[in-house]
Amino acid sequence: MLDKIRVVLVNTSHPGNIGGAARAMKNMGLGQLVLVQPEDFPSSEAVARASGAQDLLDRARVVDSLEEAIAGCALVLGTSARDRRIPWPLLDPRECAAHTLQQAEAGGEVAFVFGREYAGLTNEELQRCHFHVHIPSDPSFGSLNLAAAVQVLVYEVRMAWLSAQGQPTKREKLETTAMLNAQLATADELERFYEHLEHTLTDIGFLNPEKPRHLMARLRRLYGRAAPSKLEMNILRGILTETQKAVGRLSDKQGKS
Ligand code: SAH
Repeated sequence: MLDKIRVVLVNTSHPGNIGGAARAMKNMGLGQLVLVQPEDFPSSEAVARASGAQDLLDRARVVDSLEEAIAGCALVLGTSARDRRIPWPLLDPRECAAHTLQQAEAGGEVAFVFGREYAGLTNEELQRCHFHVHIPSDPSFGSLNLAAAVQVLVYEVRMAWLSAQGQPTKREKLETTAMLNAQLATADELERFYEHLEHTLTDIGFLNPEKPRHLMARLRRLYGRAAPSKLEMNILRGILTETQKAVGRLSDKQGKS
């Protein structure tokens, strides 16, 4: 089940932190490390800080965008050291671990996303996440070292996983059809939905691309909170397609009259 979890580090500047994160992951039984445009990698400093976890560095996937890093994930959790302008559903690391295991049991892939040492994650990156995770540190000195933040999250996942051992898993309890319904839409499916939604809202005149007023961010938050299943996502996409067709028919008619 821990194989379903990937740790994504965005634009890391210090290779030592990549090594530290790999070590923390391997200590807790996680193996999938994804690096989005690391500034300095591969690096001997990363290897030194990883100690015996060099295999994770060797296997790490280096990609160009966050989108690529989270493709295929049914649950994306973005970590943040501070509050952002648009509040988002927020979890502490323990709640994050519970959600993660629930998803992994249903067969879904999960991503933990970590930001840059100097600036964290951008608002746009955070809006790609279903939930934000905040480690409840002292507000007067709230920002942890990147590898330390990774350690806290993966430790909580291991604790939750250990306490779930021996209990019948949800997977065994669910019927196959119920399983399909329980399978959440993946990050890339959601992303295509948001694009479709944005186009449709522009077509019907609800969204003015000149003055978007955080509308898409607010809608992302809403749909992210609802955590639609694959089945529900198909229904929503169907509604958008029919809406666009209806708008097309209407403007054809107006054109003719
Ligand atoms: N100056 C940045 C801090 C970045 S710390 C900022 O204000 O956002 C680097 C990364 O470590 C963060 O992007 C986040 O992924 C993680 N991190 C650090 N402290 C954290 C905390 N208290 N809760 C959750 N993640 C944290």
